[in-house]
Amino acid sequence: MTMPVAGQKTEDRSVKARARIGLEIHVYLLTREKLFCRCKAEHGKKLTEPNTNICPICTGQPGAKPMLPNKEAIDKALKIALMLNCKINTGKDGKVVVWQRKHYDWPDLPKGYQDTQSGAYSVPLAINGKFEGIRIKELHVEEDPASWNPETGAIDYNRSGIPLVEIVTEPDFSSGEQVVEWLKKLMLVLAYVKAIDKTAGLKADVNISLVGANDDARVEVLNSLEAIEKAIAYEIRRQEQEGTSRETRRYDSAKGKTVKMREKETQADYRFIPDPDLPMLKISQARVEKLKKELPEAPQKKLEKLLSEHGIDKKAADVLANDVDLVMLFERVVGLGIKPATAVKWLTIELLRVLNYNKLTLDECEIKPEHVAELIRLVEEGKITELKAKQILNEFVPRSFSPRQKLKEAKKITSVAVLEGIIDNVLASNEKAVQDYMSGKEEAFNFLLGQIMKASERRADYRLASKLLRKKLDARSA
Ligand SMILES: [Zn+2]
Repeated sequence: MTMPVAGQKTEDRSVKARARIGLEIHVYLLTREKLFCRCKAEHGKKLTEPNTNICPICTGQPGAKPMLPNKEAIDKALKIALMLNCKINTGKDGKVVVWQRKHYDWPDLPKGYQDTQSGAYSVPLAINGKFEGIRIKELHVEEDPASWNPETGAIDYNRSGIPLVEIVTEPDFSSGEQVVEWLKKLMLVLAYVKAIDKTAGLKADVNISLVGANDDARVEVLNSLEAIEKAIAYEIRRQEQEGTSRETRRYDSAKGKTVKMREKETQADYRFIPDPDLPMLKISQARVEKLKKELPEAPQKKLEKLLSEHGIDKKAADVLANDVDLVMLFERVVGLGIKPATAVKWLTIELLRVLNYNKLTLDECEIKPEHVAELIRLVEEGKITELKAKQILNEFVPRSFSPRQKLKEAKKITSVAVLEGIIDNVLASNEKAVQDYMSGKEEAFNFLLGQIMKASERRADYRLASKLLRKKLDARSA
């Protein structure tokens, strides 16, 4: 038996660096159509009736061949790859992206295979990236299978053929906490690029092994970041006690444990072959350069700018940088000459309050920076109170308007009785113009109308005043 020597570290089995964790993250690309057919791609919040967005291609009818891959999907995947600092396989070094058939036999896969850029002999869309300290092994596009309910046997092919992007990291993580922090940053970048459906969530397969172990276990976890963190912590403890074996496990969030589903597949199990129905996907350098120009600034860069250039405090800067639409609105409002501190208050406190109340996000609304700037100016000029401005802001959701214009219209005189009173006064004090009109001089009418607008401080409803004036004058000539 060895005794710990003073000053020498004892072995601590809870040290998290003992684990090596890699992720395979699946997210839905935000596209109008599916990957290989023109059917609508619907996921997340907007799901419709089952089996309504289908055709012979995405239901795998005999003889149906895929169309060329959806350009929008490939462009969005390329943008994600560029934000994650990946190298795009443009074919420069002879590597051209190949679509492969990944075979497996499930009811959710009518063709008997899934078209993917991953697998044995594959050349994926992008490789060798790095994001927030974690290496990205590859990024590729593939089609989603249909959704299948094993209990009822019901299958919905609306999902079949929808474009997914899969991001595969190297096993650079050592704890669940680190994974979750990184995933939050990843989701923010994906939201900045506007390339994925945020409402559809993410699916992560987590590969976990202990340093020195021969095998790693894969744990499939859906959607919740909390579940991912718990599943990793559980799996590390389990492997420390039970050792590892090559298997796929599922995290049961109700029981708080991982459960073995099957032996982990090897690539040979899927019988990958290049799909003869799909040509190689050639990505030109010009296409990559064009997409680079369309990329937004990274969230971290935005945050730094908010702190250093605009002098915003950290808390507010975090709120702004966490929402790409909000931070863009902020930049444009400030660009219109509003002080950053004032813009921060109206956007991060007042506008977010209105959005939360209406359960909407900024990208679901149409709020123009010039309208926000105008509203803030009205307060600064003392034309309206803050309270009034807040009331106007409530009406900015879902579509903003010019508050100056609105205030003007609010004061418009549309009451017939009030207008008739003004007209009577104007007629009484302009007898000569009345006589001129009676003798056929049309200019006299315009003069009188001008006097009415002047007497009402331009608040009279012009068309209504004009109609009432004509009626009164004609009644006199009759
Ligand atoms: Zn289809």
